Amino acid sequence: MSTTDETRARSCVSCGINISGTNAAAFKCPDCGVQIFRCAKCRKQSNLYECPDCGFTGP
Ligand SMILES: [Zn+2]
Ligand SMILES: [Zn+2]
Repeated sequence: MSTTDETRARSCVSCGINISGTNAAAFKCPDCGVQIFRCAKCRKQSNLYECPDCGFTGP
């Protein structure tokens, strides 16, 4: 009865906007492997990201 897994909010780790349905990049933290999302704008600007799980930062 629940679709929360499918509709779980995904937000850009750099700017925090909701990126569901946008052309966002998804990748895994090289340190802990957690799924990270970054919006197209931040990807284009090569903003730093910070892993919400372990705090790893990278380009
Ligand atoms: Zn962003
Ligand atoms: Zn991490």
